[in-house]
Amino acid sequence: MNRRKFIQLGVVSTGAIATGIDSLRADSPLAAKPQTMVAMPISIAPLAQQDLDTIFADMRERAGVNALFPFMYTHEPHRTGVPPSPSYHGGNYGRPHMKYYQDTPLMFDDMHAPEFGGVDILEGVIPVAKKHGIRVFPFVLEDNSFPKTVPNWQSLYEVDHHGRPTTGHPGGPCFNNPQYQNFTLGLVEDYARSYDIGGMMWGSERQSGFLNTLLLSQSDIQDPGRTTCFCEFCQKKGLDKGIDVDRARAGYVAAEQFVRASRTGKNPRDGYFATFWRLLLQYPEVLAWENLWVTSRHEFQAAIYQRAKSANPKVQIGWHVWQNVSFSPFQRAEENLTDLATCSDFIRPALYNNCAGGRFVSFTKGAHAAVLGDLPPSTACEALLDQLGYNEAPYDKLAATGFSADYVVRETKRSVESVAGHPVQIWPGIDIDVPVSKGESHCTPESVGLAVNAVFNSGAQGIILSRNYTEMKPENLSGAGKALRELGII
Ligand SMILES: [Zn+2]
Repeated sequence: MNRRKFIQLGVVSTGAIATGIDSLRADSPLAAKPQTMVAMPISIAPLAQQDLDTIFADMRERAGVNALFPFMYTHEPHRTGVPPSPSYHGGNYGRPHMKYYQDTPLMFDDMHAPEFGGVDILEGVIPVAKKHGIRVFPFVLEDNSFPKTVPNWQSLYEVDHHGRPTTGHPGGPCFNNPQYQNFTLGLVEDYARSYDIGGMMWGSERQSGFLNTLLLSQSDIQDPGRTTCFCEFCQKKGLDKGIDVDRARAGYVAAEQFVRASRTGKNPRDGYFATFWRLLLQYPEVLAWENLWVTSRHEFQAAIYQRAKSANPKVQIGWHVWQNVSFSPFQRAEENLTDLATCSDFIRPALYNNCAGGRFVSFTKGAHAAVLGDLPPSTACEALLDQLGYNEAPYDKLAATGFSADYVVRETKRSVESVAGHPVQIWPGIDIDVPVSKGESHCTPESVGLAVNAVFNSGAQGIILSRNYTEMKPENLSGAGKALRELGII
């Protein structure tokens, strides 16, 4: 079953490799030395500019952190941990070893981050972290914005349904672009072979184009004219699967018109939901194109898993899952963790309960602007909460209260059940001072403690204290540590 699914996901696999992965899981570091994962993501700047012993001692003392997830490859200043500036470049804060990067337009200078003197941060961090009992897992989170200082990225980006190249969120690099595949697979092989790491986490905070067109996103209002992807590689793959590309494109144009009309306040004659459903009946190719995007990302993840494992079987490979999946019944349907179970060692659902209140209100506003336009916003919010199985505050209070720890319980249980029968661990990401807008609730040591308890009382095998050490108030991190000690985890 494992192997068949692996191959279904598009991985070119031999029996030896597939067998090897299963057997190697048994002697993974976790199996050999059972230790509950307590992980901490962190920007690069403190690792480059501050005393590492002080940072790691603080994490250990406050919350028993035993794994570090630095944002190792990014062209986003906030993930690097520096203010935006015209001279900012970003990239790989390790050192690109060029033999791993074949057939990609990105050159050494494109990939190599020059900040902090261009030194290999990863090389410097690993031995110091090890001394503190902390393993290092490079975290590669796809950039939201197109890196303007690296024009060679452009040919890797998606193309919208009008044929225009995208320049950032909600578009991004195309999972079917062989040169983007080569870059990413080269990067994971580079990390897996060049450094003594515990593993890697990869993430992509995006969703399929149709859901963006329909404004079903926690992010700011999207442009419905930017549905992706219609690049030459996606078109060829779609054709090979028997999808009529022109009909798919026409369906997205119709969806764009539906959303634009709703934004001008024109209520559809037959109602929003009936119009949406009719659109699917008239253009079933839209759903086929959606599925192409979703399965292409899963194939991409399976390829990352295979490349990393074949380079270094001991590294643990896992995925960051965007919080939007937990807000959207539509994206929940697309991002079935069961589909990832055969190419994962761990999965981190982002379950930031405090900031979830404001984010869910944003999501509801988007849904209300199209698919759920027939319902008043408060009713749309209630319907979505019911569809997702949550028991949270009403619409007008949600941003001020945030989501409760019960949301963490429900989503952790659902994630654990989704991968049942597979040797995959669930390490939820919990909210410790993820930034919020004015008037929204804030974390406390007690609220963080409740989230920690929710994770471990719901069957998770580890936790990722989120989302960035640099954002956390020390007392709230200590709140996590207190709960972890009471649970006997640390
Ligand atoms: Zn494409």
